[in-house]
Amino acid sequence: MGLALEVVMHGGKRWAFQVASFRGIPIRIHVSLLLVLPLLAVVFGGVFRQSAQAAGIQPELMGGPVFLWGLGVAVGLFASVLVHELAHVLYALRTGGEVRSVTLMIVGGVSEISEMPRRHRDEVLMALAGPVTSIGLSALLFVALVLLPQTRSFAPPFFLFYLASLNLILGLFNLVPAFPMDGGRILRGLLAERMGLVRATRVSAFIGKVFAVLFLAVGLFSFNIMLAAIGVFIFMGADSESRQVLLRSVLEKLQVEQLMTPRFHGLEADTPLEEALVQLRHERRLALPLTQEDRPIGWVVLGDVLAVPEAQRSGRTVREFLKPAVTVAPGEDAWSAVRRMVEAQPPLLLVLEQGRLVGTLDGNDINAGLAVQLARAQRGGERSPRWRQERPA
Ligand SMILES: [Zn+2]
Repeated sequence: MGLALEVVMHGGKRWAFQVASFRGIPIRIHVSLLLVLPLLAVVFGGVFRQSAQAAGIQPELMGGPVFLWGLGVAVGLFASVLVHELAHVLYALRTGGEVRSVTLMIVGGVSEISEMPRRHRDEVLMALAGPVTSIGLSALLFVALVLLPQTRSFAPPFFLFYLASLNLILGLFNLVPAFPMDGGRILRGLLAERMGLVRATRVSAFIGKVFAVLFLAVGLFSFNIMLAAIGVFIFMGADSESRQVLLRSVLEKLQVEQLMTPRFHGLEADTPLEEALVQLRHERRLALPLTQEDRPIGWVVLGDVLAVPEAQRSGRTVREFLKPAVTVAPGEDAWSAVRRMVEAQPPLLLVLEQGRLVGTLDGNDINAGLAVQLARAQRGGERSPRWRQERPA
């Protein structure tokens, strides 16, 4: 089983429901897991039957229906995956990381780690915590097997042996350096010490993709659907993570003022809706900042204005639809601005300097500005942002 890919996957969340929480972090189960559970129970149960036959065990000494023992191994396996994930989570939390959720899926566990530990060494140890825990769990199960009282029935000791073996495989497989699997993260962390995060990620992602193609090919040729699926997940994960690291490295070097749309006045809070609509359409914006005696207080969204029947728009003001401001300073780096956008989901950020509005920042500003900055970086040369020259005294 190739489990425990720490891929940031937003699509996966849609089909998952929460079953528990750990230190405030939701633990979710993906529906794909429930679909595959009976299938795994049958497959694992079949292994019980074949092994008993090979050992010449009589059916009455089996120790219960094989399907139930198979189901037990399947549930035990996913519990083991959860323990593996929680080891990562605990280490991440201890070293200043942030974890959004843990989701158990058909290909294994996914910990959505929104903020990685800052030091590369901690990332290496965080990645190592999962496989080490799995191998430790395997050792514990083998010890339990040795300590198990002698019994004539076949299934209980075989259950322990089987689960111990699966945990050992889980631990070892995750050490394969196929980024973003644990082994790949360890590799990336070690490389990052020498060549920096961006290059280390690029190299590890390339190696990860080579493994992904290999897993996919072997999986398809040997009809191992699980391995093939893991190949696809690794490929997508390697791609999206290396892109995210690149984006972050560029945005961290940019300041908000280099990307924002300069703006020194918002709509006054007592502007009638009719007038606000004209302004929103004229500027082709989905939201505009609101000010009161020139002090920014929030924003108004196009959708809210449109929801008011046309006949009432002249009698009501934008103040009714005021949303509290999420603000950013012009000197802040663009990556922290983007993180604020992802967390609070505002339509735009208000850029304030000494309490006064100097601009707005939304997704379009970031995309457009990023393209310009990348082109400018290739040409070289820096200029003072133009808004400082245009700003009223
Ligand atoms: Zn892991």
